[in-house]
Amino acid sequence: MMGQMMQRPLQIIELLRYGAEIFPEAGVVSRRCEGDIHRQSYPETMARVAQLAHGLAERGVQPGDRIATLAWNTHRHFEIYYAVSGMGAVCHTLNPRLSPEQMLYIIGHAEDRLLFVDLTFVPLVHALADKLPEGMRFVVMTDRAHMPDSPLELICYEDLLDGKPDSYDWPDMDENTAAGLCYTSGTTGNPKGALYSHRSTVLHALAVGLALNSSLREGANILPVVPMFHVNAWGLPYAAPLTGASLIMPGPGLDGPSLWDLMDGENVTSAWGVPTVWLGLQNEIAARGGNPAGFEQVVIGGSAAPRTMIEAFEQSGVSVCHAWGMTEMSPVGTHGILNASMQDLPFETRMDLQSKQGRRVFGCEMKIVDEEGQRLPHDGKAVGELYVRGNQVIAGYFHNDEATEAAMDAEGWFGTGDVASIDAAGFLTIQDRAKDLIKSGGEWISSIDLESCALAHPEVANCAVIAIAHPKWDERPLLVVVPKGEAHVTLEDIHALMEPHFAKWQLPDDVVFVDEMPLTATGKVSKRTLRAQFADYVLPDLPEG
Ligand code: AMP
Repeated sequence: MMGQMMQRPLQIIELLRYGAEIFPEAGVVSRRCEGDIHRQSYPETMARVAQLAHGLAERGVQPGDRIATLAWNTHRHFEIYYAVSGMGAVCHTLNPRLSPEQMLYIIGHAEDRLLFVDLTFVPLVHALADKLPEGMRFVVMTDRAHMPDSPLELICYEDLLDGKPDSYDWPDMDENTAAGLCYTSGTTGNPKGALYSHRSTVLHALAVGLALNSSLREGANILPVVPMFHVNAWGLPYAAPLTGASLIMPGPGLDGPSLWDLMDGENVTSAWGVPTVWLGLQNEIAARGGNPAGFEQVVIGGSAAPRTMIEAFEQSGVSVCHAWGMTEMSPVGTHGILNASMQDLPFETRMDLQSKQGRRVFGCEMKIVDEEGQRLPHDGKAVGELYVRGNQVIAGYFHNDEATEAAMDAEGWFGTGDVASIDAAGFLTIQDRAKDLIKSGGEWISSIDLESCALAHPEVANCAVIAIAHPKWDERPLLVVVPKGEAHVTLEDIHALMEPHFAKWQLPDDVVFVDEMPLTATGKVSKRTLRAQFADYVLPDLPEG
């Protein structure tokens, strides 16, 4: 027998409509690219979102159109998230840290129609302009007074809103309608798109709001340092209005001193981001002799949080939540909030738990499997590849059957490419990475793409790129080369070869030479052996010891 209940579609705009109605004092504070601090409540934001939707409709934006953003975390970026998906179009966040080549590929693959761009990135758009699709339109996210000179026809964001009605007749849509698009790096070749729906986004917001209710609550001030251009700032723009928390948007100021000042000035209670940014903040805390006012909690994810970092925060009175997730998972899969009974454990035992990657959020199921795909026990000892399933997980990559087929198993679970153990209490520990990628400062570098490029050099017989641990960037690429003859290629030569295809920060930090590559039983380069071989290697920018 079926239940007899109404079925209303889950829609993203409802998150903000709810926040504006129930938590009218909360809102978005934003350090604008223009330099000043701007603040607006959720009701004011809702009105501006409606104005933006009118402006876009007037410009011919249709349901299903892909609307791209090249922007920092600001109130305007937040407004675009809601206006675009609210009217049935798709908000496609572009990652400005990618190489121009990758960015152009993504824009073409997504078939973006219109691009919102922050003042910071206007020069980037100028540089790409003649390679961008014909007919693409550009909106600069600023007011008339700050509009830049340009050979392009640029639309001013505030002009788009000016004089428009402050309410909009938001269409009722199927909850499976596409709402957001975000590309993530593949192990090789071009980035792959995760196409979120209204349903997946709302369910993710509910799951994150519930799991992190110590952070996401009325009166809280949350600082998303994690960018809105990288997996929707971990869903904070959706979960915050739902729970009554305000968002403190850092704009382009992500260095330690800028973060400390903003957090102190705005009484930030909880800050979310990758380990690299917290290293900068911890240095600043040491320099200033204390935490910013009101700082209670830090959520660390995107890369493994070092235990020393967790301990330093905890000892200074800031509780740490270590989380894990992926672009393909909306992205939060686990969180490190402990049960009440665990909070009272001795410090060392508690740190053991908090160094793990946490436990699953509601709606995300996890399994670990061996090489034959057989399930392994969740006993904290067995280590296998981690697969996930749930309403927040992609069912496939956008217009990419090959990548989809490679990622899904026969039972319909998604392969994360992470190698992990799960203990009896449900704590996940990421042990290794099966995917051949390096994560530097929270962003991806494809080892395989670097290797194919280096192999084009006449003095390189064979090569491999491995990750070397780095205290600031977490990991940095090292190029290991088997030389073809007597001559040894220089790092400068390698960089010159790679520069046209990669962003500068993606280039290897050093090149080292071996006589032959260690191989696995199947004849592939054994990166595990290479990593062990270079375990004590010190990158050129670091002091020895
Ligand atoms: P992204 O899609 O860019 O968010 O990257 C997701 C990947 O980052 C995961 O599959 C992991 O390899 C890695 N990752 C994310 N969070 C953590 C964490 N807390 N510890 C270790 N690796 C992580």
